[in-house]
Amino acid sequence: MTDRVLIAGAGPAGLSAAAYLIQARIPVTLFEAEDALPENLRASTFHPPTLDMLAPYGATQGLIDQGLIAPKFQFRDRANGCLAEFDFAVLKDDTDHPFRVQCEQFKLNHLLHDWMAAQGGADVRFGHAITGVRQNDDGVTAIVATPDGKAEFHGRWLIGAEGANSVMRQALEIPFEGFTWDERFLVVSTPFPFEDAMPDLTFVNYFADPEQWFFLLKVPGLWRALFPTKAEETEEEIFDPARIEARMQWAWGKTEPYEHRHTTLYRVHQRVAERYRTGRVFLAGDAAHINNPLGGMGMNGGIHDAFNLAEKMAAVWHGETDDRHLDLYEAQRRPIALDYVNSHTIRNKQNLEASTPEAQQTFRDFLAEVSSDPEKTRDYLLRTSMIASLRAAAKITDA
Ligand SMILES: Cc1cc2nc3c(=O)[nH]c(=O)nc-3n(C[C@H](O)[C@H](O)[C@H](O)COP(=O)(O)OP(=O)(O)OC[C@H]3O[C@@H](n4cnc5c(N)ncnc54)[C@H](O)[C@@H]3O)c2cc1C
Repeated sequence: MTDRVLIAGAGPAGLSAAAYLIQARIPVTLFEAEDALPENLRASTFHPPTLDMLAPYGATQGLIDQGLIAPKFQFRDRANGCLAEFDFAVLKDDTDHPFRVQCEQFKLNHLLHDWMAAQGGADVRFGHAITGVRQNDDGVTAIVATPDGKAEFHGRWLIGAEGANSVMRQALEIPFEGFTWDERFLVVSTPFPFEDAMPDLTFVNYFADPEQWFFLLKVPGLWRALFPTKAEETEEEIFDPARIEARMQWAWGKTEPYEHRHTTLYRVHQRVAERYRTGRVFLAGDAAHINNPLGGMGMNGGIHDAFNLAEKMAAVWHGETDDRHLDLYEAQRRPIALDYVNSHTIRNKQNLEASTPEAQQTFRDFLAEVSSDPEKTRDYLLRTSMIASLRAAAKITDA
């Protein structure tokens, strides 16, 4: 059967698109290069509208069961403690889930994969890496490296959701415009109970500091501390256990050493693909846009792409509208990546690292103003929860 949607990548974006299409009775073949769902530690924050979107697949309840409900988040500094605390409860009329869920992203991948398996008919191919693509008026052909050698698969459309190094984006020669930050980000996970040391802590806390900002996020059983490293630090220096310990002691000084359960270093970019659509091929998730993790918008934005695109594909597939409707996907989602996610995450980073007394004061004044005015608080939370970006996208009706 050639009439189907091909999807490359079983990450949050590819699996979300697949789940939507399957419930819309559209055949899907999903290619994943790895032999099983990858279980690396990456995103951990699920925003309210993402929880709304994932609910029909049982994934929201699964994330709540396996994660932590985080109704509030804080901005802090080491000297003064909490500078401002925001409570998603003010969004109770805007979402069914007025809170974030803190849960490792790989758990979502399992939940969606299990849901699809339970529906029957999900054609998920592990150990299948897409390597190229051809297309014409009749359809699209994915060239795939399989355990049995090279094979070709045919479909109506192809979604490239194979992450930041997207083969589809490169094959289609789509520029990935933007920049890479000089500093890399170090994530250290520890079972140390920071909530006992700082009793007013929430599960999501951003610490402003001119010398070394950081954030502390909790997932079940572990706290994850994220620090920027200096551009001139070598990997050997960054992973030196004594230096990691010094960073942790900087975050919260204590007499006993920290247990460093996991350490990850990664390069951070702000990039958006020049096009999200080339004929029958679409980019979604990290394949289309990447940003710094301040605000937890990368994975969430990718899931929002996936549902937006899959909804449009379903409408065209079932004859409710024509192919031009698919152009609206890029028209709606690309400006969000540029104007909301990129600018919001860059501003978050600049606020936390503000180094002059004037810049620090400006950030503190901003927090005081927003948290003291209910209308401004609500507006701010609509933006940080990404609800505002979805509403802005929905207003775009012309491709
Ligand atoms: C350390 C770290 C921390 C992060 N923290 C956050 C956070 O707090 N909040 C947030 O929102 N985001 C965060 N992110 C970003 C988030 O992890 C990504 O935005 C998210 O994983 C993107 O999902 P995706 O489905 O687009 O791509 P991925 O999750 O990268 O999935 C792509 C899939 O495609 C597969 N694949 C790759 N090449 C091929 C191929 N040729 N053929 C077939 N399959 C292929 C891969 O194996 C993978 O399974 C973080 C990222 C990192 C690295």
